[in-house]
Amino acid sequence: MTISNVSIGAKDFVLAVEGLTVSFDGFKAVNDLSFYVDENEIRVIIGPNGAGKTTVLDLICGRTKATTGSIKFRGKELTKMKEHQIVHAGVGRKFQNPSIYEDLSVFENLEISYPRGRNVWGALTFKRDREVIEKVEEIAEMIFLKDLLGKEAGLLSHGQKQWLEIGMLLIQNPDLLMLDEPVAGMSVAERKQTAELLHRITKNRSVIVIEHDMQFVEDIADRVTVLHQGKVLSEGSMERVKTDPKVVEVYLGH
Ligand code: ADP
Ligand code: MG
Repeated sequence: MTISNVSIGAKDFVLAVEGLTVSFDGFKAVNDLSFYVDENEIRVIIGPNGAGKTTVLDLICGRTKATTGSIKFRGKELTKMKEHQIVHAGVGRKFQNPSIYEDLSVFENLEISYPRGRNVWGALTFKRDREVIEKVEEIAEMIFLKDLLGKEAGLLSHGQKQWLEIGMLLIQNPDLLMLDEPVAGMSVAERKQTAELLHRITKNRSVIVIEHDMQFVEDIADRVTVLHQGKVLSEGSMERVKTDPKVVEVYLGH
């Protein structure tokens, strides 16, 4: 069986998805799905179009309600929570198309994403501003945009826009970050940089990435989950998964 199954009960997972099913008018886009994500892990979900990958992320972030099953994030049952509560619990999600404020600068995009809920004390305004600026600069460096803080976001390259959106999530310091096809449309050089970025940010969080680019998957994945018809077809290291006859068959048949 898979590595995850061996260690069930032996330790706490950041994310434990069990028996998850969602039915759209009788069609089970996700069908009795179980998988487990570790602390500091980069998990990549692959699978043919329509396999249910995006729907899994929709279920975890509360955008779609599960028909049955459980999603536990640090012990909290997410299926019973609203979208904003899930964000507040520490789950960040990036959609396929970057949603940034094109008219604002890189700095402003990061600044407005900084969580302000905890800073309600007027007297600390100055300190808060310093804190925000430092955080924005730290994140900008991480996402390769340190020298472009003043640039209008709409003028960035497609890849830079993707990084900016990742930065807007990072500044909220999520424990689990989910990215849907983050390198689609990126150049080879940008893909390499994105792989480096993902390795950097998993020092203190877990990441789930949906991706088609197999070179990129090899560069980043700790473990790979192959989805097919809403179920796990195969799971393990990239090495193991890509030689699994079931996976080979599904991809060749596609
Ligand atoms: P993937 O991301 O793996 O390509 P999706 O998760 O987007 O696949 O979709 C899985 C299947 O579920 C597809 O057949 C899709 O048409 C269907 N589906 C997804 N969302 C909905 C929805 N809200 N209503 C009905 N069907 C949906
Ligand atoms: Mg998808």
